[in-house]
Amino acid sequence: MHAGSNRRASNLFYQSGSRRPPVDRAEGIYIWAQDGRRWIDGSSGAMVVNIGHGNRNVLDAMKRQMERTTFAYRLHFENDAAEDLATRLCDLMPPGFDRVFFVSGGSEATESCIKLARQYAVATGQAGRYKVISRFPSYHGCTLGALAVTGYAALAAPFSPLMAAMPKIPAPTAYLDRDDLTPAGRGLRYADMLEAAIKAEGPETVLAFIMEPVGGASTGALVAPDSYYPRVREICDRYGVLLIHDEVMSGAGRTGKFLAGDHWPDGRPDLVALSKGLGSGYCPLGAMVAPDRIVAPVLAAGGFLHGFTYAGNPLASAAGLAVLDEMERGDMIGNAARMGAVLAARLEGLKARFPFIGDVRGKGLLLAAELVADPGTMEPLPARLNAYQRLVDIAYDKGLIIYSRRTRGGYEGDHVLVCPPLIITEAQVEELMAILTESLADLAAELHLPVGA
Ligand code: PLP
Repeated sequence: MHAGSNRRASNLFYQSGSRRPPVDRAEGIYIWAQDGRRWIDGSSGAMVVNIGHGNRNVLDAMKRQMERTTFAYRLHFENDAAEDLATRLCDLMPPGFDRVFFVSGGSEATESCIKLARQYAVATGQAGRYKVISRFPSYHGCTLGALAVTGYAALAAPFSPLMAAMPKIPAPTAYLDRDDLTPAGRGLRYADMLEAAIKAEGPETVLAFIMEPVGGASTGALVAPDSYYPRVREICDRYGVLLIHDEVMSGAGRTGKFLAGDHWPDGRPDLVALSKGLGSGYCPLGAMVAPDRIVAPVLAAGGFLHGFTYAGNPLASAAGLAVLDEMERGDMIGNAARMGAVLAARLEGLKARFPFIGDVRGKGLLLAAELVADPGTMEPLPARLNAYQRLVDIAYDKGLIIYSRRTRGGYEGDHVLVCPPLIITEAQVEELMAILTESLADLAAELHLPVGA
């Protein structure tokens, strides 16, 4: 020990220098700092804590597992918790999804999908396929493979020499369009951009298309018109392109179904990436779920050349299993659908008083409101107002945590995500809305935004 020579006020660093108060404890939808202040966790952390904080049954299950073993390496032992979690997960998946590969987070999950897709192509005599088309804006993770398909130029820029350039098509931001098309027509128009990109790249070089079925922070809960999903499926089939759904944020019940993709059964993917709500913050956990028709050729050709040390460890698996038990016991996915409808209606209702809310969108409890200068044209607020960050800070000071971004890439705009744990009650929705309404009023006063009656 070098007598404190490296000691600073904090030795930790994250993305930026800004600091928040030290957390103390959390329970249900609430979280407390050490100074006694309490917040409603209106973003479930980073859309992670789907089952709510401090769930006693999950903690007990983890404790039982911890007392047996926290870690046993998968090359040395099978473990029941991972086996059981894989089985439970497959029971919740659409037909045909019968193979699970565990990881510890979202970037690992999307990266695994890309690598399995590539090995499948090689194993099945399609080695010329390597391009993964994605959308902009989008977010698929921060590791180099996941970042290569992320549509967020500023985040990727310094690393671009380290990554293969991957083709991007516009995300289906139909709510911004002011054309004569119907929503269905717009959905098809955006999906057809995928076909155009596949043709332009050369279909024999295209490996996969990755998309968030309901968008996350990059787009503010973007939902495409219904027509988009089956058309994307059809196009992928036509050109032999694998369809990857990144359900890292939208999965595990968040949208009122186990998968967001379950809202569009005729747009089913080939591979699914899950994380966040799967471990619900109790343990780092993620998964790639795949059909055996994709996994089997890879295993037969010598095995999947990929894997993380912590993958499928007994503790994370026991936590995941208990999370799924609790989700089912508390009908949390049903509650997400019900409370999502209540919350969406309440957010929609704010438009009259705050005409700078240009759009409310999402599914279940993955909801967002877009803040604009003009709801008629959807012209964004000037970036210099920093509206999204001001709203987060104002709400934070009043005891509400929300997640907010200015989308950059394709188009610009401020949005705020409202994504409480799936256990929220109607009374708690009202409590959240009271603080959010007050915060929007303060934001309007501060930035001189118009306010209605
Ligand atoms: N994919 C999506 C849709 C996400 O929202 C995220 C994280 O926010 C990721 C991937 C990356 O997950 P992680 O931060 O756990 O690596």
